[in-house]
Amino acid sequence: MTRVLVVEDDPQLVRALVISLQARRFGVDAAPDGATALRLAAARQPDVVLLDLGLPDMDGIDVIKTLRARTRVPIMVLSARRASGEKVAALDAGADDYVTKPFNMDELLARLRAAVRRAESASAAPDAAVLVETEHFTVDLVAKRAVRDGRDVRLTPTEWHLLEILVCNPGRLISQKRLLSEVWGASQSNKTNYLRVYMAQLRRKLEADPARPRHLITEPGMDYRFENPARGSAAEGIS
Ligand code: CA
Repeated sequence: MTRVLVVEDDPQLVRALVISLQARRFGVDAAPDGATALRLAAARQPDVVLLDLGLPDMDGIDVIKTLRARTRVPIMVLSARRASGEKVAALDAGADDYVTKPFNMDELLARLRAAVRRAESASAAPDAAVLVETEHFTVDLVAKRAVRDGRDVRLTPTEWHLLEILVCNPGRLISQKRLLSEVWGASQSNKTNYLRVYMAQLRRKLEADPARPRHLITEPGMDYRFENPARGSAAEGIS
């Protein structure tokens, strides 16, 4: 049974989540505040954490940081505020994904399952990510080669670095701030135009239709995500 830790201080929302999750045979623990969440996370070893950022006793970002110091459990953020700065901070602190309230319950459940699957496959097959194969191109992370239609794709070191970060995190939302600081350095984290240019180049070189990318996806708020629909990631349907 997949165990979910729901961290949320709105009792009505907790009730709705618990009913929906239990109906789909998830095991559920609920914490109304950050301190309880950290205690239950240690005691119950959940498979995934669903975390509201606005908690009565602690900033949700600090809950993420404390959890990340102890565990790799997938963390899905429930964000009431639409400010993209908060989502960026949550992703940078180590959250895996976020859903903005009000959310669609089926979408939330599909993304929860995808997060659990990613964590399971990452721990079951640590070498699986050496070769990333999509229907359009293949990335060999050891040989540092990208191949499309049987031919090597020439990538600049910067393009390679970006691609490497994305394909190593299939299905996971990566903030533009993280990409900029990992590839260009922390002092360049506001140069979002670099990222747009390099992502466009990567799509031109790798995507079948760069105008409608299937793998190198830009999310609202200009975060990025590598999707591999044929291989299954966050795009998998509700089972
Ligand atoms: Ca709240």
